[in-house]
Amino acid sequence: MAAFGSLSTRLTETLAKLRTKGKLSAADVDGTVREIRRALLDADVALEVVKSFTAAVRERALGAEVSEALNPAQQVVQIVNDELVGILGGESRRLELAKQPPTVIMLAGLQGAGKTTLAGKLAKHLLGQGHTPLLVASDLQRPNAVTQLQVVGGQAGVPVFAPEPGNGVGDPVRVARDGVAEGKRKQHDIVIVDTAGRLGVDADMMRQAADIRRAVQPDEVLFVIDAMIGQDAVATAKAFQEGVDFTGVVLTKLDGDARGGAALSIRGMTGKPILFASTGESLDDFEPFHPDRMASRILD
Ligand code: GDP
Repeated sequence: MAAFGSLSTRLTETLAKLRTKGKLSAADVDGTVREIRRALLDADVALEVVKSFTAAVRERALGAEVSEALNPAQQVVQIVNDELVGILGGESRRLELAKQPPTVIMLAGLQGAGKTTLAGKLAKHLLGQGHTPLLVASDLQRPNAVTQLQVVGGQAGVPVFAPEPGNGVGDPVRVARDGVAEGKRKQHDIVIVDTAGRLGVDADMMRQAADIRRAVQPDEVLFVIDAMIGQDAVATAKAFQEGVDFTGVVLTKLDGDARGGAALSIRGMTGKPILFASTGESLDDFEPFHPDRMASRILD
């Protein structure tokens, strides 16, 4: 995966160097951990995450983890793999569906993060699983966001609830509430509410998102974040966590040549699981997020 291109290369090269060694000395382990630390920092992984990651790898690699089946180099690879799975969230987490339909999923994130595209992808994915999603266009900030959602809804084969034409400057909270009511009335089992972002963290945007959250009481609030934003990822995620309090994360643009820092930091820094990954502009470039698969791709 391109997002981890250089990080992936550096980690695999570092670990490959151990292969020629029969036994690993403490100095070998320290050297390896230093290189891993540098590779993670260069990939914009948050410092706190890098520290705990490297401390765990070092401790386990120096410890008496003797496995008959694995040589020392393989053991270190296994440890790094396990720890990567850990910082990516361990187990994969599926969408929490409401006991009483419809399940309401609200999307939040900065403008350009890929929310509207994601709304279409998620709707298509859920439709493929036999659900009957409804998309709700509550992003009334960006002039063509409603039309854009109607286009992706059309491509996904999913209906879109939108404010009446000419009403585009209306109240996004009302649109969200009406959309969820429409979802109930028409017996959609899932309602996905797209909301407005801004280019940067902004008090008005946060207030609006929080108002929508209160109005529709979503079962899931997915924070959509562009994996390419590098070091800003953590601050942005924390602002949304405080302002809106999301339940899960969607990483977008993992196809880009980002360095992977957002993906590796976000779980550790927010405690919230990553549920999905978006990997391109087409509606099919989308997948449920599996920490173990992502870790193997990084160490491939
Ligand atoms: P929003 O402002 O959060 O609703 O963002 P949009 O859904 O409008 O997406 C912003 C831009 O990013 C659009 O040009 C999308 O085609 C593009 N985009 C969205 N997701 C991805 C992705 O996973 N990979 C790539 N390469 N582009 C994406």
